[in-house]
Amino acid sequence: MRRPLVAGNWKMNGTRASVAELIEALRLQDFPAGVEVAVFPSSLHLTQVVSGLQGRAIAVGAQDCAAEAGFGALTGEESASQLVDAGASWVLVGHSERRLIMGESDEVVSKKFVAALACGMTPALCLGETLEQRQAGQTLEVVGRQLASVLAGAGVAAFEKAVVAYEPVWAIGTGLTATPQQAQEVHAAIREQLAREDRRIADGVRILYGGSVKAENAAELFEMQDIDGGLIGGASLKANDFGAICRAA
Ligand code: 13P
Repeated sequence: MRRPLVAGNWKMNGTRASVAELIEALRLQDFPAGVEVAVFPSSLHLTQVVSGLQGRAIAVGAQDCAAEAGFGALTGEESASQLVDAGASWVLVGHSERRLIMGESDEVVSKKFVAALACGMTPALCLGETLEQRQAGQTLEVVGRQLASVLAGAGVAAFEKAVVAYEPVWAIGTGLTATPQQAQEVHAAIREQLAREDRRIADGVRILYGGSVKAENAAELFEMQDIDGGLIGGASLKANDFGAICRAA
């Protein structure tokens, strides 16, 4: 009932030349019709990717947006309004690299989520605990707090037009994937937290897993009840690997 979604987060990678090659390789991939596919290039390459993938059923998103929609004096920022103008229909919000390295608070993440929705974009809200937090037994508390902040700022109805991505920080780029059971436990808790506000919306929202997903481990993760697809980092930079992950969904 929930259509699987596989999204590729290209992070701070690519040149115009390498992005052109990746676009060509993605165009040759066989993506299953039942799976929604999206890629998130650097905003520098948004227009290139949007035009390069025209005619293919691959959505294009941005990796971040400003906390304010519209236009104005905010040097170096890019608003959801501008990203929409560049052709992006999705945006990642609250990726752990932004929370932890760029110091984004729960409050800022919540504002970005609201700004994206206000511009008609679909936000993918990223949640996840650090290794220390997991080892201290705080995983569900941390993820619950991150989600609660956005629920307070945007309301549960917003999740009819959003997706959630659970990305344990210790699994990102480390080759250390959460086990399907570890991921499922957190995904179920996220869905339950949403269900406490609205069961129907909770049942419909897609919750992606991210963190060292590869062609070899994708299927066992995606077959878990509350895992509705993946947010793929490193493996999304190789069209064959990304295609294989999409075919596992
Ligand atoms: P990796 O797949 O490289 O671990 O990255 C996951 C991620 O952060 C996607 O947003």
